[in-house]
Amino acid sequence: MTISTLGIIGSGQLGLLLCQAAKKLNIKTIVISDDENGPAQNYSDEFIYSQYDNKEKIKEFVKKVDIITYEFENIPINILNEINKEKKVLPKPEINKIIQNRKLEKTFVNDLGIKTTDWAFIKKAGDVEKNKNLLPGILKSNTLGYDGHGQYILNSLNDIKKNWCFTADYILEKKVNLKKEISVVITRYLNGETYIYEPIENIHKDQILNHSKIPAEINKEIFVKAQSNAKLISEKLDYVGTMCVEYFVDQDDNLLVNEIAPRVHNSGHLTINAFSVSQFSGHVAAVCNLGVKKVEKISNAEMLNVLGKDIETYRSKTFSKNEFFYDYGKKSIKDKRKMGHLTILKK
Ligand code: ADP
Ligand code: MG
Repeated sequence: MTISTLGIIGSGQLGLLLCQAAKKLNIKTIVISDDENGPAQNYSDEFIYSQYDNKEKIKEFVKKVDIITYEFENIPINILNEINKEKKVLPKPEINKIIQNRKLEKTFVNDLGIKTTDWAFIKKAGDVEKNKNLLPGILKSNTLGYDGHGQYILNSLNDIKKNWCFTADYILEKKVNLKKEISVVITRYLNGETYIYEPIENIHKDQILNHSKIPAEINKEIFVKAQSNAKLISEKLDYVGTMCVEYFVDQDDNLLVNEIAPRVHNSGHLTINAFSVSQFSGHVAAVCNLGVKKVEKISNAEMLNVLGKDIETYRSKTFSKNEFFYDYGKKSIKDKRKMGHLTILKK
């Protein structure tokens, strides 16, 4: 089947950048989102504002598109499964089910023989006590986390607040003495061919990505292992599209998987300018089965996220010809909210 219309669930900056990439590939986009002001609507061919459990609206969306993808992983799995019965959802809903749940995600990675941080599943305060060898650690909500939301640092058992009622499931992770954080973005096609971008080095502030750069300052062994782990993970998931593996490198040069993103990723924004085919074009080409794209690196690069009201300064700046500024055009400015980014191409 020839695919001409791509449905995208979610209307944030990742959706927006997917719409831009799709346009260049002559693919129409229809975005559905529960955010009335989602910025992707300014670049999609059509926008449907709807709650994700609104059956009528979902039906309308599904009818209009040939294939469906998503820009964030926290979509209720039963809704993805329902949609998938009518039109194909890529990456497959089963993948999302694993990845949106930290326990299933880490178990999946560990079962492949790939290291993660040391961790334990936590249902009640007593479980933290049983796993006090993981302290100092980070308590993370088992589902629905992003940009550090739902995370609590536990230096000792005294930090378990009495008023936490543990109504949600958590995992407790040992705090890693980080040397570095890196990520690998990979695009995998229906025929199993892959393109693996080189590892990207990521610097976080307050648990939010602050900037990313290539080349990552890592040794050859870590470079190769980070890429081969990502390839193995994508194969075992039978993944179609672009995904990202976030890693920690500890002080002893151990490479640990932090998490998998079953979607395009913020650290991959620099691929728009630094490679002949971006993570977004690769994703659209893979899910729409447009044929394998040949990718070439153009330049080294650095990408800076523009958060909150810093966007105002950037809006009035002038940029040199190796600088590429992206303003997501979000309607309201919020503290720590990702408002845009700047990519600087470097020698
Ligand atoms: P999110 O789902 O919000 O992206 P992550 O688990 O990726 O959550 O955590 C966000 C950031 O917090 C990481 O990129 C890292 O900088 C820091 N962090 C998270 N877990 C650990 C850990 N176990 N040890 C050290 N730093 C961590
Ligand atoms: Mg993360």
